[in-house]
Formats: sequence, C-alpha cells, structure tokens
Amino acid sequence: MIFARSFFALFALIFLAAVSPAAGSSTAPATALTAEEQRLMAAVEAGKADFAADLGRAVAIDSATENLAGVRQVGELFRGQLAALGFDSRFVPLPVATGRAGHLVAEHRGTMGKRVLLIGHLDTVFPGANFKRDGDQVSGAGVADMKGGDVVLIHALRALHRAGLLADTQIIVVMSGDEELPGSPLAVSRRDLLDAARRSDVALAFEGAIENTGTVARRGFVAWDLEVQGATGHSSGMFSAAMGSGAVFETARILSGFYDQLHTMDGITMNPALIVGGTTAELTATGGTVTGKANIIAQRVLVHGDLRYLSNEQLAEARAKMEAIVAKHLPRTSAELKFNDNGYPAMAPTPANYALLAQLDRASRDLGYGAITAFDPRGRGAGDIAFVSPPLPGLDGLGLGGKGEHTIHETSELTRAPELVKRAALLIYRLTR
Ligand SMILES: [Zn+2]
Repeated sequence: MIFARSFFALFALIFLAAVSPAAGSSTAPATALTAEEQRLMAAVEAGKADFAADLGRAVAIDSATENLAGVRQVGELFRGQLAALGFDSRFVPLPVATGRAGHLVAEHRGTMGKRVLLIGHLDTVFPGANFKRDGDQVSGAGVADMKGGDVVLIHALRALHRAGLLADTQIIVVMSGDEELPGSPLAVSRRDLLDAARRSDVALAFEGAIENTGTVARRGFVAWDLEVQGATGHSSGMFSAAMGSGAVFETARILSGFYDQLHTMDGITMNPALIVGGTTAELTATGGTVTGKANIIAQRVLVHGDLRYLSNEQLAEARAKMEAIVAKHLPRTSAELKFNDNGYPAMAPTPANYALLAQLDRASRDLGYGAITAFDPRGRGAGDIAFVSPPLPGLDGLGLGGKGEHTIHETSELTRAPELVKRAALLIYRLTR
C-alpha cells in the first residue's frame, strides 16, 4: 500500500542524508580513531587467536532448544566468560511448564553514556556437538545462528575490558535459551528480556551479519484461523433462499478478498497454509480430516495460515482489511477470523534504528572496512530484538554470518570475525561514552 511504500522511502531518505556527507571515504585515515579507540583495536587483535577455540567450545555442546540441559550448559559457559569481565552473571531458569531451559542474563553496572542491551541466544534449531574446522571454514549447528554471534559479542566486551574501557559502563547481556522455538506464554518466556530493556537505552543484536549490511527492521508474524459455516442439505438446493451458497464458496470469496486487498501491501505476506472443508472438517496446526459428498452442500471450512508484517501499524491495517472482508457474507453463511496471540512482533524500520545504523556505518568506515547499508527487512525472519525495538532504538545483524542456517549443513568463515568484533567493540565504546 501507499502507506508502507512511502514509509520506506522516507526512512531511506533519512538514512542517505545521515551517511552521505562522508560516503566515498571507504579507506579510513589513521586519525579516524582516537588513542583510546586504537588501544581498543589492539585489544581485539590480541584476543583474536582465541576466537576459533571459543566458538568450538560453544558449538561442541548440543543445545537444540528442546535440550534443556545443553542450553543450560552453553549458558554456564558464557556466564563464566562474562563473569570474568566483571559482569554480574546468572542463568535464569524458566518455569517447567514452558518446556524451556531459561536465559543467561549478565549485567555490568555503571553511569557513563548510553545504557546498552546486547542480545544473543543459546539454542540452535538442530542438535549440535558437531563442530568441525578446516582452516578458516567452520561447520556445525550454531556456527552462524548464533553461537558465532555470541562469541563476537563476548570478544567485543573482552577487548573493552582488557583496554580498561568497560569501567563505569552500563551494559546488559541477555542470551535467550529459546529463540528458535519460544516458550509459551511469551509474557513469561520474554520477561527477562523486557526487564533488561526497561533499564536500557539502545539494543544491539548479534544474529549473523549479511555482507555489508545492518538490520534495522525484521518482520513480525501472527498465525490466524478462519472458521466458515454454511447451511447444508441436498446439492440441488444450492443458490436457493433456503440453502444459500455453502461454506466453500464463502471461503473462496474470503480468501480471494484477502488476496486482492493484501498482495499489493509492501512488506506484507499472507499465507493460507492449510484448508479443509465439507460436511465435517477438523484442523490442527499440521494436518486435518474432512468428510463430505458431491451431492451435499459443504457445511464447514477451516483455514489456518500466517500473516507477516513490518510494523504494528501495518499489522493493524492488514487485520482491519481482513476483518472487513470476513464481516460480509454470501447467503446463509457465516465466518469468524481469529488471530493467535503467540506470534512474534515486528522490529519496525524507525528513524532511531537508521540513526544507529549510521553509527555502525561510521565505525566501519573509520576502521577502513567500508560502508554499511540497511538490509531489506522483507528478507529477514522474526528475531528476539523485535520484543524490545521498538521502543528501544535497535540494530541487528552484528554477529558472524554464514550459510545454511536452520539446516544440518550450517557453515561459516572465520576470516571476517576480527572485523565484526572490532566494529562491535567500537560501536559499544562510542555508545557508552
Ligand atoms: Zn538466531
């Protein structure tokens, strides 16, 4: 829709205005860094040989979301590393009913500059314990998503600590144990993250970097269910005043309306994924059953699907359109649309997020690594940062990227790790002055 397109164009303009004065100076002059910043970069250099071993230790622990003991073990590994830097670190278990292990929460208390929230996650989609290294090539569950990012985060903080620059900074690290399959209800499983956000000014997340981009927006999603009822009887009565149009035609009308109204909204996707209809119909999240005959008018149709969106405003607009379509009815039919409340929120592309991206871009160019641009949010799935940004200014995509995330062939390259640690350390340093 016009709303969403102009929304994007506006932020793109703001972003260009923010970065264009220095665009073109991709090689940094030596003077771009202060003496303290140079000391910080020397500390990153001094620690970079440990990166592969630190990543290997984390990936060697199987921490698929459902493996509660493994998630906790990875949490303990990182907890110890952050405690050594002066963080007050603890593993916060979740109630057993959630079926999830809990989260690592580590806090460094101070008063200087902005209060920074750093976000990682401990769990992986597939079981791990399969770390392999061949030169700079590494593979195993979580090398990119996102134990690689967790190690970038920790190495950046370790460099700040070794350079004596962590003193009096206010930094909270939250690594969820259930990012890949959040525990329910979200109000419980995301309570610690939301608590940390209330005591922070800005959020940085370390999901994998995608080339030279930063993530200023991630789409949210919500699941929905449509239930349609119609009068039933002999098919020869179809279209009569008594029998009306049947539940299947009514469903076709609704879905075709959804398509017409939503497929042109920029940033929206809507997927009717499962459908059953007939005399009887039952549906679960992954399958269904149906009975019926060609000479009986269908009485009941169930549809299950999802809706992905860029901002709460866009979600409200799409929902209003869907509800208006459902509210009309073909003769002798009725329909009800329900939105599930356990979806993931959107990280909207706000001006504050673009301002943070401009700071990362500045840090990257000051280090001689070139410009950082905004990644297209349509290509990025939901993530934990969306629970806190908005309201906090947020930036994601600061971790070690890779290939094959969410598959059993997840790989990454260590060559870029020092660059990622340096720019993260420099960004955190500048935010906390
Ligand atoms: Zn992830």
